[in-house]
Amino acid sequence: MKDYLIRGLALNKEVRFFATKTTNLVEEIRKRHNGYPTAMAAVGRVATVTAMMGAMQKSGDSVDVRVRGNGKIGKILATANELGEVRAYATNMQLHLPSNDQGKLDVKGVVGTTGEIVVIKDLGLVDKYTTTSPIVSGEIAEDFTYYFAMSEQVPSAVSLGVLVDVDNTILAAGGFIIQVLPQASEETITKLENVIANIKPISTLINEGNTLENIVELLFGDDYTILNENNIEFKCNCSKEKYSSALLILGKDELVDMLNEEQIETVCSFCNNKYIFTIAEIQELIDSL
Ligand SMILES: [Zn+2]
Repeated sequence: MKDYLIRGLALNKEVRFFATKTTNLVEEIRKRHNGYPTAMAAVGRVATVTAMMGAMQKSGDSVDVRVRGNGKIGKILATANELGEVRAYATNMQLHLPSNDQGKLDVKGVVGTTGEIVVIKDLGLVDKYTTTSPIVSGEIAEDFTYYFAMSEQVPSAVSLGVLVDVDNTILAAGGFIIQVLPQASEETITKLENVIANIKPISTLINEGNTLENIVELLFGDDYTILNENNIEFKCNCSKEKYSSALLILGKDELVDMLNEEQIETVCSFCNNKYIFTIAEIQELIDSL
């Protein structure tokens, strides 16, 4: 089943929701980086919340998320846009820890419990809007719940999950964000809290074969409207041209030094694609300066 995202309104239109299935996206990230289970749970959760934040952007805008905790995974970076194109990686993807006391992948153990979340909204051209928020748990969903409450003043429930198979492939991944709109009544908020406290983990629900529509129904009964649905896919916007420009920025002296090598290999951190520049191509770049 393909990855997708739905968004809509529920509970007498007093809340808005985003729900996504990201199993293929997280598996694609795992394959490209040879990610180990605990690291993949962390990166997969960040990729999933970023996919939903991408859906919150206007046409043409993108969102860039950086989670910088004090754990061994280092920085987790993800970007997404409103078309559902997502990419993500972390400094150290080969990390695996024993399960935590709830028998779950120890995400906090690799992310750390202090640090910050940086969210950069690229509003096209040169306009960028940056907000930061502290890491409060290291489990990612709680950290973004805090981010939405403090940085965007929107009370939200965030659920994120990644289920890894015994052979380390991704069995199921997904998430939802439910945001309380200003006109919401106390009754609606209480109802919502009860439902969220009692629902199974989203990765379990997806692994059981539930569609996002099934999951939304478990949350809201029939009191919801889906406004939009779109595909989610791994997509990196790197290209050889972008790396040519990056090499040019290094300047003539650096490029002349490179002529001593057999070839120059550049690697995209996000997708692990390699771009090879031959000595003749480096010479062309020098000549163009
Ligand atoms: Zn790339």
